[in-house]
Amino acid sequence: MRAAIFRGPGELGIEEVPEQQPGPGEIAVEVRAAATCGTDLKSYRRGHPKLFPVLPSRFGHEFAGVVTAVGDEVTAFAVGDRVVAANTAPCGRCWACTLGRQSLCENLEFLNGAFAEQVVVPRTIVECNTYVIPDTLPFASAAPLEPLATVVHGMAETGIELGDTVVVHGAGPIGLMFVRLATLRGANVISVDLSAWRLGQAERAGAVETIDITGLDREQVVARVKRSTPGGRGADVGIEAVGLPAVWEQAVATLRPGGTAVLFGGTPKGATFAVDSSAMHYEEYTLKGVFHHTPRYVKQAVELLISGKVDGELLITESRPLEALVDSLEDMAAGRGSKYVLVP
Ligand SMILES: [Zn+2]
Ligand SMILES: [Zn+2]
Repeated sequence: MRAAIFRGPGELGIEEVPEQQPGPGEIAVEVRAAATCGTDLKSYRRGHPKLFPVLPSRFGHEFAGVVTAVGDEVTAFAVGDRVVAANTAPCGRCWACTLGRQSLCENLEFLNGAFAEQVVVPRTIVECNTYVIPDTLPFASAAPLEPLATVVHGMAETGIELGDTVVVHGAGPIGLMFVRLATLRGANVISVDLSAWRLGQAERAGAVETIDITGLDREQVVARVKRSTPGGRGADVGIEAVGLPAVWEQAVATLRPGGTAVLFGGTPKGATFAVDSSAMHYEEYTLKGVFHHTPRYVKQAVELLISGKVDGELLITESRPLEALVDSLEDMAAGRGSKYVLVP
């Protein structure tokens, strides 16, 4: 069968590899849709010591498909089931899992290999983060389960209430999901980005206002965003969905007194950001970092997809054959698209 093999930064290609048989507790899934994500792009360019400790490696982690074989001891799934799975599972035993903070699990097991005709899902993921999906949910809509689950996690940290003004900084796939979920929660969402095309998507996801900050300097951005909030005070909740320290700072600088910022986008290792400590004190900001997901948030994300409240396909720029993987990552890097579904 054909599968994407990652050999190091910039070295990624489709190769012929043997099919795998599922071991005890595992399931084999014929991939019908696999989605690209920002993490794939980062890994392809720079490598990713945590996700790819050993090379060469299979590649890709967002997918949906059909079960073609089940290992011994699997009772929850059968051949022919349409399924979606998250990309990791927590161990359930470490200090973080014991405290109920499974996103911080010290022993997260990762799945790599979604960009392929077939993938074997590890036992721990089968047990806690794999779901049967109905015929009504297209594979391409279900594939971005993992980022949606992380956004559901982010939403849980926002404390958004009915009627809040929420500013989402960044309108890539993650930003769009925040726009959608904050709207579902009854907020008035303002989407801020540099791309008219992405802001158009944010409008379709429910944003009541979009702000194109192209050409504005830092102070102008802060003034412009605040002008759109009640009384010009700033956002009740600001969400950073870009992953740049400057945008983290922008999200904090545009809060109202007493506001909460969820700083969601991952920045390069060692990066720092600055906060006006006097404002932090007198304006009582709450700043929250959010990483990854937990089984609870994965389950909620699956339910949002099945109910149709979130349409995963809205995030997809285009569906392409598996062979277009590298071209699709390059298109993402060049800003021509934000998420592609590859069909093996
Ligand atoms: Zn992903
Ligand atoms: Zn753990």
